[in-house]
Amino acid sequence: MKRLIALASIVAFGSALAAYQAPQAPAPTPTAAQLEVVKLKDNLFVITSSTPGNPATFSGGNVSVLITDSGVTLVDTKLAAWGQALLDKVKSITPKPVTTIINTHTHGDHTGNDDKFGKVEIIAHDNTKANMAKMPAFAADKAQFLPSKTFTDKLTIGKGASQIDLYYFGRAHTSGDAVVIFPALRIAQMGDMFAWKDAPGCDLANGGSCVAYPKTLAGATASLKNIDIVIPGHSPMMKVSDVQEYQRFMADLVASSHAAMKAGRTVDEAFAAFSVAKYPGYKNERVKAAIQTIYDESK
Ligand SMILES: [Zn+2]
Repeated sequence: MKRLIALASIVAFGSALAAYQAPQAPAPTPTAAQLEVVKLKDNLFVITSSTPGNPATFSGGNVSVLITDSGVTLVDTKLAAWGQALLDKVKSITPKPVTTIINTHTHGDHTGNDDKFGKVEIIAHDNTKANMAKMPAFAADKAQFLPSKTFTDKLTIGKGASQIDLYYFGRAHTSGDAVVIFPALRIAQMGDMFAWKDAPGCDLANGGSCVAYPKTLAGATASLKNIDIVIPGHSPMMKVSDVQEYQRFMADLVASSHAAMKAGRTVDEAFAAFSVAKYPGYKNERVKAAIQTIYDESK
């Protein structure tokens, strides 16, 4: 999130410069054609284009589209700027109306279009509703789009092929990360508790915790029984073994950081000593920031 804000200010600064030099065309409105879709089941699709890096194609987190007899349930709603593109993309998948939105957590790249589908049921964890209530995007008349239903530990909605189980396992990326399970489909959606193969953002301002992360992930992985596909926050589809590996990675990162802290090492030294090489396919672009957060939390 901090990185996104930093990126946004760099982009804004760049635009200001360009405007000074020459009149600039407004950024083109994203279209549905820019959004990719992965079909997982006849009644479950994922709208992807969720990998950060290129601001022109980054639409926010993965969005699940569950088609039920009574309408469509979306899990997360991408960045606000992608609202029309998202509406059009959902329409290209099914003519049924969106009746329910589930938010995995508070961030604007997962809740940005909760207000674009009319008055629908919006479901999130108790703490996510509290976090969303602090966001300018849900202030004043937009407060009507705050979650209308919340849960504390577990909530089941729908049945049969449409059943969704929502679970909460504790603090991690934020204080309100929901794990979304489609039991009949053998699919789980993790939100940003498992966004990518790199250190997570631990959003302390929204109650997140890098220190609590391994324990929370351990609870989550134990719940992933009879699951074939895992939908991460910002990466292509994964497996349960990837989540189990992520749990070990986070336990390792927290333990290494605490050991380095105890030995009086700086964050830079702790970062230099932590290698991601034993975790195939992992990046370390966010590892130093996570170590800093662990230090800050453990003072
Ligand atoms: Zn997030």
